[in-house]
Amino acid sequence: MKDSVYMAEMDAFTYREKLAKDAIVFVPVGALEQHGSHMAMCVDAYLTKAMAGATAEKVGGICAEPIIYGFKSQQRSGGGFHLTGTTSLDGSTLIAIVRDICRNIAEDGARKIVFMNGHYENYQFVYEGVDLALRDLRMEGIDDVEVMLMSYWDFVDDKTIEELYPEGFTGWDLEHAGVMETSLMLLLYPDLVDMDRIDEELYVGLPAVLPNYDVLPIKPEYTPPSGCLSHPGASTKEKGEILRDVAVKNMVDAIEKEFGA
Ligand SMILES: [Zn+2]
Repeated sequence: MKDSVYMAEMDAFTYREKLAKDAIVFVPVGALEQHGSHMAMCVDAYLTKAMAGATAEKVGGICAEPIIYGFKSQQRSGGGFHLTGTTSLDGSTLIAIVRDICRNIAEDGARKIVFMNGHYENYQFVYEGVDLALRDLRMEGIDDVEVMLMSYWDFVDDKTIEELYPEGFTGWDLEHAGVMETSLMLLLYPDLVDMDRIDEELYVGLPAVLPNYDVLPIKPEYTPPSGCLSHPGASTKEKGEILRDVAVKNMVDAIEKEFGA
C-alpha cells in the first residue's frame, strides 16, 4: 500500500499508530455547489481536501475525507441555493454531521483536530458542531481535545492579494467561482475546469453588485446569470500555485503556534 496522508487511503493499523503519536487530524468541509459553466460542482470539497492534504503533509498529519455537502449557498456568497445543481444541507444537519465526526475522531484517540472550511456559508455551523462535540466528549470524561477551525482563504496575506488582484480585490465572499477558486482548480484539477466555457454573454454583471442584506425567499434576479460572483477570466495555474503555497505556509504557522506541531 502506498504511503498517503489521506485517511481513506490508509489501513486502520497505520491510522492507529499515527494517532498514538498524536498526529493532527484534518477534516475538510466543502459543498456541492454550482460554480458557473466553467467549473465542476465539486470545487469547495475537492479544493479543501487538497489544501488540507497539503497542510497535513507539512505537519505529519492525517487528512480525513471531506464533508462533501455544505450549508445552503447564499446569494451574497455563493449565488443562492435556488440554483439547480447546488445541493445543500440544512444548518442543523451540518451541525450534526460535524458533531458526529469530531466526537468519533476524538474517541478514537485524536487530540488535535483541524476543521478546514472551503465553503463560505459553512463556518458558524462547523463551529457549533465542534462545540457540541467537545461538550459530548467532556461528558465521556475526555477533556483534552483541541480543535482549530479555519477557512483556507483567510491565510492568503494582503501582499499576495495585491499581487494577484492588481485591479482591486472585492472580498472573499464574492470570490465564488472567481480567480482564487478557478486558479486553484487549474492547478489541482485541470480536467474539471474549462476556461473556454467562460461565455462573455453569460459572464456579465461581474463582480456582482448585491444588497448589503439578505432576502428570503430568494430573488433570483439578484444573482448574475452565470452563477459566479466575480469574473474568473484572469485565472491561471501559476496564480493557483502562489495561492496554495501562501495559504498552506500560513496555515502551518498557525497550527504550529496552537498545537506546537
Ligand atoms: Zn466555491
